[in-house]
Amino acid sequence: MGAAHQFKNEPSDAAKRVPDGLFVDCPYCHTHFYEKQLGKYKVCPNCGYGFRLTAHERVAQVLDDHSFVETNAELSLQNPDFPGYADKLHKAQRTTKLRDAVMTGTGTVKGQAVAVGIMDSHFVMGSLGTIVGEKITRLFELALQEKLPVILFTASGGARMQEGIQSLMQMAKISGVLARFQQAGLFYLVVLTDPTTGGVTASFAMDGDVTLAEPHALIGFAGRRVIEQTLHEKLPDDFQRAESLKQQGFVDEIVTRENLADTIAKLVRLHRRNEA
Ligand SMILES: [Zn+2]
Repeated sequence: MGAAHQFKNEPSDAAKRVPDGLFVDCPYCHTHFYEKQLGKYKVCPNCGYGFRLTAHERVAQVLDDHSFVETNAELSLQNPDFPGYADKLHKAQRTTKLRDAVMTGTGTVKGQAVAVGIMDSHFVMGSLGTIVGEKITRLFELALQEKLPVILFTASGGARMQEGIQSLMQMAKISGVLARFQQAGLFYLVVLTDPTTGGVTASFAMDGDVTLAEPHALIGFAGRRVIEQTLHEKLPDDFQRAESLKQQGFVDEIVTRENLADTIAKLVRLHRRNEA
């Protein structure tokens, strides 16, 4: 009886010693490896694909320690009326510790002062709603005032369908402030991360003075299946991946996470020199 009892408990005791998600699959090359092999940058050891980061993880990877000061952190949607939307927002707020799908603020990257916006795909697929639009708009306004470059990390499934037409209007709103920002001669750097799709790709994600992308990031407007069904054609494997976008001239450079902070700082520095 005692032995049987012990036997029955063995698997759960073993399970306690094995941390969750010990093994992971790379969504790009489908290699199976130990989670700890992702390393501090969370990159596939086989193909270099960057696993999706939270906005907080991105800050830790790119900005100088303790330099980040968040802006408009408390801005959140009041009285969402689409059925089930309020619950969805609350759940996303709890899991991401964000009020909506973008985190904005100021800080330094290798000593260079920047305004930074980081979209988080863990929050309702990083979709573009009124709060995301408002926060990005305010970020550009702040950067205009303080004469700072804007570094924007995009990650988005597209428009926030629960907000209907209000969501689509954010593209025009951001394009408006972005035009003023660029007329002032300030530097706008976009870093396309996996996935950047839909309306975000159709607007401010493609308006950067310089456009960087992470290895193998999915970047596109309509989804692959929709296009294949429309064209009745099979699309190539690298379709809508950072590498093919670079080949076609939409992306200036593909940068690994390890080199990202150095590359951003170098580009900001070069642009400052032009201003002087
Ligand atoms: Zn991989």
